Order: sequence, then C-alpha cells, then structure tokens
Amino acid sequence: MRLNGNLWRQGDVVVRLAQAYGYCWGVERAVQMAYEARKQYPDAKLHVTNEIIHNPAVNQRLKEMDIEIIEDRGGGKDFSGVKQEDVVILPAFGASVQEMRMLNDRGVRIVDTTCPWVAKVWNAVDNQARKSHTSIIHGKYSHEETVATASFATTYLIVRDLAEARYMCDYILHGGDRDEFLAKFSKAISEGFDPDVDLGRVGLANQTTMLRDETLAIGKMLEKTMMEKYGPAELQQHYMVMDTICDATQERQDAVTQLVNQQSDPAQHVDLMIVVGGFNSSNTSHLQEIPEVNGVPSYWVNSAACIDAARNAITHKLASGELVETVPWLREGPLTVGVTSGASTPDRAVEDVLERIFQIKDPSFKGTAPLALEQAAAPERPHDAEAIAP
Ligand code: SF4
Repeated sequence: MRLNGNLWRQGDVVVRLAQAYGYCWGVERAVQMAYEARKQYPDAKLHVTNEIIHNPAVNQRLKEMDIEIIEDRGGGKDFSGVKQEDVVILPAFGASVQEMRMLNDRGVRIVDTTCPWVAKVWNAVDNQARKSHTSIIHGKYSHEETVATASFATTYLIVRDLAEARYMCDYILHGGDRDEFLAKFSKAISEGFDPDVDLGRVGLANQTTMLRDETLAIGKMLEKTMMEKYGPAELQQHYMVMDTICDATQERQDAVTQLVNQQSDPAQHVDLMIVVGGFNSSNTSHLQEIPEVNGVPSYWVNSAACIDAARNAITHKLASGELVETVPWLREGPLTVGVTSGASTPDRAVEDVLERIFQIKDPSFKGTAPLALEQAAAPERPHDAEAIAP
C-alpha cells in the first residue's frame, strides 16, 4: 500500500492511508526488547510494570509468553509476586522513581524499554527541580507516563489543556481563591503544593503524546504571563523552557490533519475516517479528535472485533470517551475511507479492520494478502539520537 502512494482500491472502496501512522520508533523498540527478554531469560519469571504499550493484541501476546502484566486496577499495583532474580520489564512510557527504587531494592533484573524521548522529558523535569522551579506538566494526571514524569519533580502541577493553563496563568497574574485552586487540581499537584508560593518559578514539560500545538500554546501563554508579572529582564529567573515534544506524535497528528483538511478537493476527499488504536491510548484519542473537530465522521476502534460485517455495525469510541454503536454504518456505493492508527498499533490490526470494511461493501470478499501496509519497509527514526539525553 505504501508503494502505491498510501492508496488502495478494493471494489468501490478507496482507502487513503495517512502519510505517518502506527508504530513509532519508541514503541517498536520496546516491543522488540520485551520479546527478546523472553528469549534471553527462558527460565526466569518475567513481569512488566504495566501494559508495555496500549495495544490489546501485543499485551495478549506477552501474556501468552508467560510475561505477567502488573496493572493498577484501582487499588494500586500488586508487586507481591515479584521476587529477587525475577526479570522486570519497564514499559515504553517508563516507571516512577519510587517504583524503580523499590524494584532495585528487591534485587530484580531490569529490562528498561523506556523511550529515550520520554527520558528526555524526565531530564528536563529533573533540571527544573535542581533549579527550584515548579514543573508545569501538560498531560493527564492519571496517565502512566505523566505519573512517571511527575515523580522526577520536587514540585509539580499537571494541566490537561489550554483552559486549565489559562486558569493557572490568571492565578499567577491576579491571584484568586486559593482553596478553589487546590480543589480544582487536587489530583494534579505535588504534596504540599502552594499556588501562592510555587508558581513563582516554573518550567514546562509535557506528556509526549499530547497535542503538540496545545503544548506550544501553553508554553507561550506561560512565558507571556511570567514576562508580564516579572518583566522581560527577569524572565529567565522565572521561566525555563525546553523542547521535549516527540516528533512521532506530531507527525501522526499532522498526517491526519492533512487527510481531513482537503475535503473541498474531490481528488483528496474522504467520506469518513477510521482510527485504529487501543481505547486507553492517549495519542490515539488525539488522532480521533482531529477529524471530529474538522467535522469529518470518524470511527475509533481498537480492533476489527468492533466491526460486525454481517450487521453493517460498528462499535466505536468518540474523543470524549463515549462508546457508541452505529448501525447501519456504511452506505451503499463508492466510498473513500481515510485511515490512521495510534503509535502502539501493529499494522496487522489496521489490515484486519480494512478487511471488515471490504466485507461489508462486498460480502463475497475473502481477504486480501497483498494489502500489506509495508510500514516496516520504511522504518522511521523520529528523533535525533545526538539530542537525546540518556
Ligand atoms: S510516541 Fe514518541 S515518546 Fe512515545 S514511545 Fe513513541 S517515539 Fe517515544
């Protein structure tokens, strides 16, 4: 499909594949390291401190390889089964400082698959802590990557979006109701956080899978706020900035924007978007958000099982988190489908979804081996290794 300009025609369905999609370098590396760990330690008990990536098929395969996934199902993670000499794999989005210390003390062997780009964010936060700056982290406070990033900070505040950032900047400039502030961010601040003290010197960091443009906008807003409050001559003492945005996330978002922004051109038009990725995947939720905001019907599925070809039905998630069923789904006649997938989604999952679509449009369709997306034929290395701190 790549060799065909990311275009595929099957009967009256035309598929336009996003220019950048699916597995990123960091995820591919993490999965390979986990599989290799099983081979290297055939007799050891293996654990991973979370889903290695947010993809059900990959996590199922790890379970089949007898690798235990230690998940937090609401009551905290249970490490009681982890014994000395066991092998513990840290996932692509890392683990908290406290978790790493505990594992170290327990004498386990660690296979650290943390993406170097995530480690670069940790370095930024560590640097901010050393200079007594509060880390303002653009992310979701419950996301594993943000939990790990926050653990490197002495003082932190996590803002989810521009609205929360605006509220914080307004407080910095004009003060406000301290109790209301603390209640609003109760789950997103470090212990003992005091907005009247801890917002005097700040630095920005981000969860690597957030929308890049939003992170940049928050950075600009924060810089302008500190300049207004302390004056340009004092800015450097009050605001630290560092570019920690992951290119892979941005490339996937740009590619979807490109697909949905050409609706007026009949040669590039898509009737709908299919977004394939784990339902708990943050970067996939942002891919879904882009067509929704641009008014293009978009269907986020985590696997082909979401599509019932016999009923022409699809169970899909919206960017808001709501799970809905649409039936009947695909109309009769020619259809152009735009396709993308999250950074933890194997090509096979996308191929399976497309085959279900072809089956709906042509019940005699029996599968198509040549569909191979050939993502692996164009391996990407999104980050400049020289610039990545260890
Ligand atoms: S999305 Fe970026 S930061 Fe996250 S694992 Fe992939 S390459 Fe690393």
